[in-house]
Amino acid sequence: MQAAFIHAIRDIRMGTLPVPSPANDRLRLAVAGVGICGSDLHYYLEGGIGAARIAEPFVPGHEFSARVIDDNAAAYGFSKGQLVAVDPAEPCGACEHCHDAHPNLCPNVRFTGAPPYNGALTEQILARPEALFALPDSMTATEAVMLEPLGVAIHALDLARPEILDSVAILGAGPIGLLIAQLVRLTGAGPILMVDPLAYRREVALHHGAEAAFASVADITERTKGRGADLVIEATNSPLGFAHAVDAARIGGRIVLVGIPEHDTYSGLVASAMRRKGLTIRMSRRMGDVYPRAIRLVAERKVDVTTMVTHRFDLADTGKAFATVADYADGAVKALVYPNGPEA
Ligand SMILES: [Zn+2]
Ligand SMILES: [Zn+2]
Repeated sequence: MQAAFIHAIRDIRMGTLPVPSPANDRLRLAVAGVGICGSDLHYYLEGGIGAARIAEPFVPGHEFSARVIDDNAAAYGFSKGQLVAVDPAEPCGACEHCHDAHPNLCPNVRFTGAPPYNGALTEQILARPEALFALPDSMTATEAVMLEPLGVAIHALDLARPEILDSVAILGAGPIGLLIAQLVRLTGAGPILMVDPLAYRREVALHHGAEAAFASVADITERTKGRGADLVIEATNSPLGFAHAVDAARIGGRIVLVGIPEHDTYSGLVASAMRRKGLTIRMSRRMGDVYPRAIRLVAERKVDVTTMVTHRFDLADTGKAFATVADYADGAVKALVYPNGPEA
């Protein structure tokens, strides 16, 4: 079967993988849709994230929906052909952090689409039945893909705990920032002030819950009359994102860092500024137990996950999908690949 491999920086090629044969305790799935994530772009543009490097060509893709095609589907409560969302993380379940209800921090996790584990940019894949989430009939394959990034946003909110009428600055109007903005809106916090250097993304932000969208973090300071925001959520890929979050936060404010900075480095941090503000800083890592809430939010139409899907590609055009998102070309916000053909 066909699969898209990242070989090196900006080098994606189609190749083949053997059709997976159903193993004990794993079900065979036909991949329906796959999202290109900011984290995938770090492999594409930099060859890795921190210590996780491309050692040999690997298949990316961790945000995906699929149809259960395994002959054993019924034994696990699924019908053949049923659309499911798939949690890409397989924590060990045995370590201190898994026992402590923080499986997202498990150092032994097998994560689909992070080397050395191949991901979903292929036609079929195996998954544990526990990783599959049944979906309401109304949900589309595209919406089901978006449950994973929505889960990342939910986890960020779980850490941020916005309070009613908190002013919230969100840095970065990519898919994660836009999903976070919608969730903050649901909590009654606000105003929601977003920052993104790209004009077209600022425009999108205004349709996803932001009261205002600015080109630079200095505008947040001005808008809040020098006070800064109660809560700052950083969802950029910039090494300066952390320092900008410090600038945007009020004295005694809170920061949640969600973005992954380029080249695994934060820069421009001024220790005295952080200290004098007495900031509370939390790092967000993937997600906790979020799928049931993500499914309800989409099913009940409380969050719009599809407007931001600006580009759709066939599997053979995966390279084009990556280039489009990486280059912010053609108004791109979120690109999805459909390995078994376009959604009906
Ligand atoms: Zn992701
Ligand atoms: Zn563990």
